[in-house]
Amino acid sequence: MSDLFYPREPRCKICNSPLRDEIDQMLLGNELTPDGRRWRMEEIAAWAQQRGLETSIAALSRHKNNHLHPAMQAALETERMVEAISQATGRKLSVARAYANAVLAKTLRVLDDLDWQSLDDNQRLRAIDRGLRAGEVLSRLERADVRLEVAAKVEATLSEAGASAEIIRRVREVYGLD
Ligand SMILES: [Zn+2]
Repeated sequence: MSDLFYPREPRCKICNSPLRDEIDQMLLGNELTPDGRRWRMEEIAAWAQQRGLETSIAALSRHKNNHLHPAMQAALETERMVEAISQATGRKLSVARAYANAVLAKTLRVLDDLDWQSLDDNQRLRAIDRGLRAGEVLSRLERADVRLEVAAKVEATLSEAGASAEIIRRVREVYGLD
């Protein structure tokens, strides 16, 4: 599984590094050392440091356990779901669409559960941030039509909840629609 799309944790240097994909492949054992064995943590740390990323074994472990593994888990679940739906309906469902559906369902559930009027500004911003992060994940999908469909639903929910035009403009921006 080489193209995992998962949200970057804002405070994790590895998530936010351009070396993330390569580091992930090393952590997963998909990428081996020149002599054909798995990379050890201290070797990955040294490799990253040579390329300008100040990191440590502790930071690599945190990234692996808290960000990379949950993303792998979610990807596997999506795959299983796609497989189950295909078998049940006899129709092929694209992974992109299945993934979009899962993210959308989660985002809408969060937004729906909110009693928007009773939230303070901080809480509203946090809710919007979740929507934006879901959008960011989806915007990495190739499929513009799926993205458009999801963005339209999120936008409608946000407007009903009373989000301002400025917020909706930002949502559209994150989804790559403007
Ligand atoms: Zn991370």
